[in-house]
Amino acid sequence: MEGPSPPGFTGRRGAAGLDEALPPTLHPRLRRLALAAAEAVAPAWDAVDRLVQANCARVWAAFREAGVAEHHLLDGTGYGLDHSGREALDRLYARLFGAEAALVRPHFVSGTHALAACLFGVLRPGDRLVAVTGQPYDTLAGLIHQPGSGSLADLGVSYVQCEPGPGGLPDPGRAADAAAAARRGQRTVYYLQRSRGYAWRPALDVAAIGELCGLIRSQDPGAVTLVDNCYGELVELREPTAAGADLAAGSLIKNPGGGLAPAGGYVAGRRAWVELAANRLTAPGLGGRLGAYLGGTRLLFQGLYYAPLVVGEALKGACFGAWLMAELGFQVDPAWDAPRADIVQAVRLGSREALVTFCQGLQAGSPVNAFVRPEPGPLPGYGDPVLMAAGTFVQGASLELSADAPLRPPWVAYVQGGIALAYARLGWLSAAQALADAGLVRL
Ligand SMILES: *Cc1c(COP(=O)(O)O)cnc(C)c1O
Repeated sequence: MEGPSPPGFTGRRGAAGLDEALPPTLHPRLRRLALAAAEAVAPAWDAVDRLVQANCARVWAAFREAGVAEHHLLDGTGYGLDHSGREALDRLYARLFGAEAALVRPHFVSGTHALAACLFGVLRPGDRLVAVTGQPYDTLAGLIHQPGSGSLADLGVSYVQCEPGPGGLPDPGRAADAAAAARRGQRTVYYLQRSRGYAWRPALDVAAIGELCGLIRSQDPGAVTLVDNCYGELVELREPTAAGADLAAGSLIKNPGGGLAPAGGYVAGRRAWVELAANRLTAPGLGGRLGAYLGGTRLLFQGLYYAPLVVGEALKGACFGAWLMAELGFQVDPAWDAPRADIVQAVRLGSREALVTFCQGLQAGSPVNAFVRPEPGPLPGYGDPVLMAAGTFVQGASLELSADAPLRPPWVAYVQGGIALAYARLGWLSAAQALADAGLVRL
């Protein structure tokens, strides 16, 4: 039952007060669509509200179990030996991930670096890497294959890729075959990517990840399963490590940083593997026991505390964007009311021009560098030129509203984030307006 409406509001939950919140320059049809969207997607937003409450309860419990104290928020210097904040942060993530151990570090330069620490930490010459979910995210190509760079291939680690089944989801039969082919004494890391990456496929949910990990272990008892958890944290009620994955890794300038973490990455999972990843981040013999947090640990703690809320806002923004762009005639994935296992919203723009215009419009709706027109360019770790709209406070932080697009057919923008629904909505509308202004969509 709806309660009484505050004065001046329509009483319809979604669109309440929204008209005043839209820019006066917005095209009248976009204004009508924005109001209609708020009503249409209200059921999805309600579901997000329930998710946020449950995930706040998880984070709250983890803080208390980890015994987070005021002195943990201070910074350290030099070796950072016995820095209690670092240990508390590791405990906190381990609790939240239902894992034996975690390694949460600003010294990881990115999510790719955290994943690399896992792979290079665990694998030895003669071992195997099996990509269970098809071709891994673009930035991993170099560390797997690049000759002469110290890649896994250079170290004599063999590579097997399981092509996805129908609908882009992993094929359990192929995963089982790859696991059954494990040789005695040869360790295999099975790499599962939760988010869609730059592919037109659904994200993999935690239940499916858990089933795949169980299947793989039944065929190869020595298996080490590693989940690329980027963009998936706090989108469901548990993390892959609580569902049977041995290791998960991700970036702190995505979901778990809550929009506050200034840099870093994390690894969580079984203690033995987390320790090997720590040895790779620092050096064998040093592991996770040292490393100073020059900027302090506060924003890493506080960011995780806010993260369920901010992830919820990002999910609501994605539902809004999916509805809006579908109304404007574009293919979107997922649909506004489909289940989500990551925060990414893919929109198929259909032409290079529309893709570039869309991303430039999104940038124009950002708080920082709104006046900049992003152009496609080379980016370390990516094969194709990439267009990135990221008018963000933390450089490249994609829990803030952002869009990335490798410049290749079928010309898909991968949009994510938005610190608050209201900001995300303005960004999506700015992108739609840019398409209209360029005559690329008829209003
Ligand atoms: C972001 C991301 C990564 C890591 O990217 P970085 O830019 O190195 O943090 C890896 N996999 C997926 C699916 C991602 O979304």
